[in-house]
Amino acid sequence: LRMVSSQPIGNEPVSDEELRPHVLDGFIGQPRLKAQLQLFLDAARKRDVPPDHILLAGPPGLGKTTLAMIVANELEVPIRVTSGPAVQHAGDLASILSSLDTGEVLFIDEIHRLPRAAEELLYIAMEDFRVDVMVGKGPGASSIPLTLPRFTVIGATTREGMLPSPLRARFGFTAHLDFYPHEELEKLIDRSANVLGVNLDEGSAHEMALRSRGTPRIANRLLRRVRDWAIVHDLIVVHPADVKEALSLYQIDSEGLDRLDIAVLNAIVRNFNGGPVGLNNLAAMVGEESETVETVCEPYLVREGFLVRTPKGRVATQKAWQHLGLTPSDDVSK
Ligand code: ATP
Repeated sequence: LRMVSSQPIGNEPVSDEELRPHVLDGFIGQPRLKAQLQLFLDAARKRDVPPDHILLAGPPGLGKTTLAMIVANELEVPIRVTSGPAVQHAGDLASILSSLDTGEVLFIDEIHRLPRAAEELLYIAMEDFRVDVMVGKGPGASSIPLTLPRFTVIGATTREGMLPSPLRARFGFTAHLDFYPHEELEKLIDRSANVLGVNLDEGSAHEMALRSRGTPRIANRLLRRVRDWAIVHDLIVVHPADVKEALSLYQIDSEGLDRLDIAVLNAIVRNFNGGPVGLNNLAAMVGEESETVETVCEPYLVREGFLVRTPKGRVATQKAWQHLGLTPSDDVSK
């Protein structure tokens, strides 16, 4: 049984920051990854050197940024945050690198989107702790090597395959984050509900977990929408039926598929009679960027068996047709 207060559900502002665990112990799920990372950090602490560079790979919203913050916190070092698209010129990266302190963590989100010249500069810096700073322009330009203190790069990527192999090879440890099973999302929702002051009845966290696409970021987002519902309806305790009603208002379906997922499945089934259809065609059909369809929608649709990738393109499965209330023999040409 849960502790239930008789206070109405709180509406104090709670930022994402307050939902972030700060130590590895507080990070829910991903047990193998946690054990690997724990050993990796313990060894660095014992040797009293900054650990090797770390690459975090996996779909968005699974906690890569959170893990990077945890690593810096556990090592008691500062963390500098940037991202591939934020670095427009190699010089931007050179100036960040040349201002790092010993042991500092440099977190580079979407590292696969660094410009080529910055990538080259980065892997030299990661390997030799050196940057070549260009002085002057044109034929008279020269480069001055600058020695850097030892530091740790934590790169995050949704597209590991897009990292050039020389850069990938500079990471001593690559962690693959996977979608979370429902039980783990339930724990996460319970934890966040405590922080947000939302009283969940037995079974309510479960209903949200089922609709969270295996993704902590989505679980927390759904919880906030349920919290809004509870505030507006003056609920003291949130029952599973409230969760269902609140989330159906937001068009989150029983399998956790959202509007874009459904649009993708509809496009394959209705416009291409189930596929195969190429990624770019598909993305154009739903009015999204190919990268969004490929990294945000597809991993979950594939994992849940709604979609398969074949050499000829994407194909909707029987399960997808059924989910749309159709069967592959239906005439969908109208
Ligand atoms: P990513 O960088 O992978 O896109 P993130 O680290 O920025 O993700 P979100 O995915 O936005 O984090 O996570 C949303 C919220 O859920 C954050 O407050 C985050 O700390 C929390 N969270 C994510 N993963 C976990 C986890 N495994 N255990 C506990 N809280 C988590």
